[in-house]
Amino acid sequence: MPRSEPIKAVRGVRDILPGELPLWRAAEQAASAVARRFGYEEIVTPILEHAELIERAGEDTDAFAKELYRFEDRSGRALALRPEATAGVVRAYFERGLNQGPQPTRLFLTGPMFRYDRPQKGRYRQFYQLDVEAIGSAAAALDAEVIELARDWLREVGLGDLRLELNSIGDSKCKPAYLERLQDYYRPLKAKLSPDSQQRLERNPLRLLDSKSEQDAPFKSSAPKITDHLCDECATHWALVRRLLDTAEIEYVLNPYLVRGLDYYTRTVFEFYPSGAAGQQDALGGGGRYDGLAEAEGWPPTAAVGFASGLDRVTELIAASGVDVIARPTADVLVVPDGDLAVEAAEVARICRAVRSTAVDYESKSLTAKMRAANKLGAKWVVLLTLDAASRRSAQLRDMTSGEQEELAWVELPTRLA
Ligand code: AMP
Repeated sequence: MPRSEPIKAVRGVRDILPGELPLWRAAEQAASAVARRFGYEEIVTPILEHAELIERAGEDTDAFAKELYRFEDRSGRALALRPEATAGVVRAYFERGLNQGPQPTRLFLTGPMFRYDRPQKGRYRQFYQLDVEAIGSAAAALDAEVIELARDWLREVGLGDLRLELNSIGDSKCKPAYLERLQDYYRPLKAKLSPDSQQRLERNPLRLLDSKSEQDAPFKSSAPKITDHLCDECATHWALVRRLLDTAEIEYVLNPYLVRGLDYYTRTVFEFYPSGAAGQQDALGGGGRYDGLAEAEGWPPTAAVGFASGLDRVTELIAASGVDVIARPTADVLVVPDGDLAVEAAEVARICRAVRSTAVDYESKSLTAKMRAANKLGAKWVVLLTLDAASRRSAQLRDMTSGEQEELAWVELPTRLA
């Protein structure tokens, strides 16, 4: 029989290993603590949604459709793996009656998202996000609140050195007229633009502003800026958001080229970058107002604002910054049987576990190898079990920091280790 190749992980997805998880958990716990501090409650929504829910929200955008994991299930239903959390959270908000109580409803979620993107460092096909949403209010104060929450979280995990970029992209009243101005400006330049931008000129002109192509760069600075063409309501909102951020002493950089391509985004948009880095590639998170999404999903028009941050990138950056969150021992105590003492070692481990995390080395052959393993695992104590001591129901307890060793009865272990 031919030997088959071992089956490896799917391209663009990865395992998060035990050595990495303490850092992930620390980042998630900080997220949940900060979100609760601001009065946000956790919600879990499904990874699977009707493809139509996602597609309605992302209508007309080629990138969105190309990146969607979309398939038919066994009954022929068109389903999608969620590419972001917002569409599902908004669905749940209406479908499950969260819109009934006092508003806004403040929610947060962490979990996997899926995008069929080109995999590279910091960009995966299954990645994880912290998602924060305040639904049911148009108050500018909520835009600032979500930004402050995001900033506090990133600060708490040691990424306080940030650059916050901010823009307003108007609403359904002023955006269409601005888009026409933008098209009027770019149309005569069409032949000089990158192929992507040429395509977007008619369908999604806002995206010309965040083009990364060098070919498009020279034309941007003279392009009309949306913040110069906001309607009165959007201009008031924009001024208030900035005043709130100023009062909270949150620094920001105004970036007139920061946009969100999807139609339902309105007014405030923002991105966080590690200070020094630029470009979409390095964004740690971003968000904005999406007053048009509920309606696009078929629900009553409802104002909302949110933020999403990539846990993959955040944890990679924490790891690279050398913050020591991972130097935790696998177990505090390692029981080391020297000889055929598996049953006794298991009993001793059970006793120790009453007060300390405890593992048993059933594997290593020589005592030297066992002590080396204990050091590697970072155990604080080793309980050494010899045949002779085990017959008296006692063992050697070794303090791995001081190197001191003493013989103790098994029953005395919990008091010594506590
Ligand atoms: P977006 O929903 O596109 O605004 O993304 C929000 C955040 O999620 C980004 O700032 C990234 O930190 C993260 N993110 C987006 N796409 C990916 C991906 N393919 N892999 C890893 N992180 C991602």
